[in-house]
Amino acid sequence: MYTMGIDIGSTASKSVILKDGKEIISKAVINVGAGTSGPGRVIEEVTKQAGLKREDIDCVLATGYGRNSLLEWADYQMSELSCHAKGANYLFPNVKTVIDIGGQDAKVLKVGPKGVLINFVMNDKCAAGTGRFLDVMAKVLEVKVSDLQTLSAESTKDVSISSTCTVFAESEVISQLAKGTDKRDIIRGIHRSVAGRVGGLAKRVGLEDDLVMTGGVALNGGVVLAMSEELGKEVKTSPLTQYTGAIGAALFAYQKIQRSE
Ligand code: ADP
Repeated sequence: MYTMGIDIGSTASKSVILKDGKEIISKAVINVGAGTSGPGRVIEEVTKQAGLKREDIDCVLATGYGRNSLLEWADYQMSELSCHAKGANYLFPNVKTVIDIGGQDAKVLKVGPKGVLINFVMNDKCAAGTGRFLDVMAKVLEVKVSDLQTLSAESTKDVSISSTCTVFAESEVISQLAKGTDKRDIIRGIHRSVAGRVGGLAKRVGLEDDLVMTGGVALNGGVVLAMSEELGKEVKTSPLTQYTGAIGAALFAYQKIQRSE
């Protein structure tokens, strides 16, 4: 039996296909999200990889900010909060707290047994503490977002980025560059700024182990490390971090079939 989860975020489109609610047989990410060609392209890619057509897939569930753009393709839609909690439980069965940093928002979820969502807090009003903040800073620093981790690991001095507003923080970075500050130190300062902002949100929900980071930003180990230092706790993550919502969606699709049988 095959189920498919599709997570259309603000910044990236992700999809996975699960076999019998357990094994991921294909996965794809396209780095553009809602309102773009991303949803169509991610579906094409994930089905091609699996060698399946729509009629071979028993149930499709869409989640994320752009989930309502897939009313024809998907059988069901569901909130990304529930899907993230469920997907995090698949990756880490003992998860209790999820810190999800996506392209345009950051959420902290309290998760119960079997990945049930208990409570959450969210920042979707401000770019600071989101992937967008890092994307803007990477552009100013003329580096790739995927290189931020390696560069920050080479930092030798503490540089503090104190502005919480993205626009002011961008000016701060520009002035640090003008002073000749090493880019690698600035990048570590940027990671600490994101960790401070989202860590504050996490403390409001309460921090219980396992503490797991999900979302595309967790691909940057520099942010994960800064978060662990900020919270004084181990922070786990998975190479599949960006697929967490899509995995949860495919698991809920599987549950829908089980219930209807
Ligand atoms: P959304 O669901 O809101 O569209 P995602 O959870 O997919 O967002 O995360 C998108 C963010 O992930 C981007 O803003 C980018 O900063 C970050 N990102 C994506 N790929 C990488 C990578 N290889 N290394 C570091 N950060 C990444």
